[in-house]
Amino acid sequence: MDKNSQEQFTGTIKFTPPLYKQRYCFIKDLVGKYKPKKVADLGCADCTLLWMLKSCSCIEVLAGLDTCASVMKEKMHRLSPLPGDYLQPDDRSLTVTLYHGSVAHKDPCMLGFDLVTCIELIEHLEELELKKFPEVVFGFMAPTIVVISTPNSEFNPLLPGVMLFRHPDHKFEWNRAQFQSWALETARRYDYSVEFTGVGHPPSGMENVGFCTQIGVFFRKYPQTSESAQSEKSTEVVYKMVFKAVYPSLKDEKYLQSAVVSEVIFTAQMMKRRLLDRLMSEHEEYNDDPPERKSKFQPSVNCFSEDLGKLVVEKSLEPFVQENVVYVPLRTIFSFPKVNRLCGTFEKLCKLIAGKVTLSSDGSAVMLDAEHENE
Ligand code: SAH
Repeated sequence: MDKNSQEQFTGTIKFTPPLYKQRYCFIKDLVGKYKPKKVADLGCADCTLLWMLKSCSCIEVLAGLDTCASVMKEKMHRLSPLPGDYLQPDDRSLTVTLYHGSVAHKDPCMLGFDLVTCIELIEHLEELELKKFPEVVFGFMAPTIVVISTPNSEFNPLLPGVMLFRHPDHKFEWNRAQFQSWALETARRYDYSVEFTGVGHPPSGMENVGFCTQIGVFFRKYPQTSESAQSEKSTEVVYKMVFKAVYPSLKDEKYLQSAVVSEVIFTAQMMKRRLLDRLMSEHEEYNDDPPERKSKFQPSVNCFSEDLGKLVVEKSLEPFVQENVVYVPLRTIFSFPKVNRLCGTFEKLCKLIAGKVTLSSDGSAVMLDAEHENE
């Protein structure tokens, strides 16, 4: 920025939403676009980005790395599953792991990722760490996409109170030319392409300073099989795991079974209720009928007679009542979209509920007590 325009600028810079949120939203949008399954956030600090990303339905593995275990631990409980996650397990599996360690060291737990984010990290690295960083991230981890954000020092004169760097722990702050030449050289060396962008627009008339946060998005140019990603790079474990959460998922047979059993019981109860209501109203209608009709058809006292049961059983897939037991055919329950989606096949449904739901002797129907509401 030239000195004249700097002096002319008198306004206060205020980013809406705040700049850190704009950086996280940039990553969220990128996740929405490229749908990575495995995402690692290096220099994750208090895990806010990881916490935001855990709601992205494409992500199955989330990992965070930081040299400061205490800052990671501060709010890491936010990454644990909530009671609702157990009540209604998700279709996808999700594992969130936090590691204590440095981006200057290689660890096998960082292999096989699709997206690696380094948000406002590199300017915190000591000279030697920064030197090792490209080999660890681009050479060793070699994910499909790497995002690196860092302050654009050309914007600093517009920020009130910034004398040298924006944060006391920053070891350097680069202008656009410095960042871009480092990024282009790194991309060239490790066979990546890089695109530059940023967040935090300068005020109008000051566009020449560029974004407040500069961002490089790197794309690996060569394909990588999961085998080559894992096997050729065996290296020692150096990171320490400080947190791990495995979310309940319908991919896990245990949760699938409990979801199917509750859905089957819920559906059967609903069908029982419908049947009993219908029988009850038919019974009431019958009692309102003239006496000559009544004599032709006498239901038993509680109206759940065998006669009625036999009448309905003929429509094979309809629920029916017999000796105070309501039978809800499994085939009918399977035709309900939610049960159908959960199980996929009728055989799977039978397998999942075996021993968990009371079935008729031939196994074709769920049996419920006609008189009690909640078995
Ligand atoms: N990404 C976060 C935090 C940025 S601050 C955000 O956007 O808000 C930088 C973080 O990097 C700090 O939490 C710091 O502890 C961590 N850090 C510094 N050196 C590191 C290293 N060598 N390896 C991993 N993390 C490091």
